[in-house]
Amino acid sequence: MRIKYWGVRGFVPTPGPDYLHYGGNTLSVGIEGEDGTIIALDAGTGLSVWGRELLSSSFGQGKGKINLIITHSHYDHIQGFSFFIPVLIPGNKVDVFGSNFSEQTLEDVLETQMTPIFSPMQTLKNFGSNINFKRLDSLEPIMVGELKVTIIDLPHKVNRSLGVKIQGVNGTIVYAPDVLYKKASTCSKIIDFFKGADVLIHDSTSTDHYHQIFSSDFSDDGRDAVIMAGMAGIKRLSLIHYHQNQKDKDLNEMAQSLREFALEQGYDDLDITLAQEGTSLLL
Ligand SMILES: [Zn+2]
Repeated sequence: MRIKYWGVRGFVPTPGPDYLHYGGNTLSVGIEGEDGTIIALDAGTGLSVWGRELLSSSFGQGKGKINLIITHSHYDHIQGFSFFIPVLIPGNKVDVFGSNFSEQTLEDVLETQMTPIFSPMQTLKNFGSNINFKRLDSLEPIMVGELKVTIIDLPHKVNRSLGVKIQGVNGTIVYAPDVLYKKASTCSKIIDFFKGADVLIHDSTSTDHYHQIFSSDFSDDGRDAVIMAGMAGIKRLSLIHYHQNQKDKDLNEMAQSLREFALEQGYDDLDITLAQEGTSLLL
């Protein structure tokens, strides 16, 4: 299984010289199975970058098939959808997996985003590809090609946010890009879900003492991710969903501080890296 980071930012894209190393596009992670099955995890602005690259493959001739899993319906997870060129090309197949994140279906949410107020596309019906919406709502795994996909609801302040486990022939990844624990160490159901992952791709926000100091909902220190990874026995933690305040130099400092924090917690063999746009992992 190949994992490629196309967008690693949460909240809002961050162009500019202070963000060149880790990248400035919002969330999108590409997964490719050994059988050629392609899954896009989230449709932030990074998806549009991937889309332009896919045009040189079968997607450019309208013969491509991609599966898109939306974990959360906020802008940083969906804003690249209408700028993903393969979805405009007749003949391509796009299966969109997600849940009802509010009282609306995912299809209704995306349709609302396409109205003339927000988009020149006006409606999803103007997209040329064959788009099928498929609801994912339980811990019961589904097969997407040879990849086994399971979801879980993650703690989140507003609306639903999903965690996704993908099991391939050579390994397992868990993607938990947008999560806000009240107290991470008590979330045993989530820790159980994370167990067995070869790589945990996890939100870098936390709730801790900074919460009170800065009167904010979260801090961007990543400690909750370390605690969850450590308690689940994970060996590789890849952080993602960076706040716009976190420039390259801040992220380098965060990585260093988290490695020290992991040692303090007794997680000596936890390898911590920061997801970087344009880079890949192989399992
Ligand atoms: Zn987000």
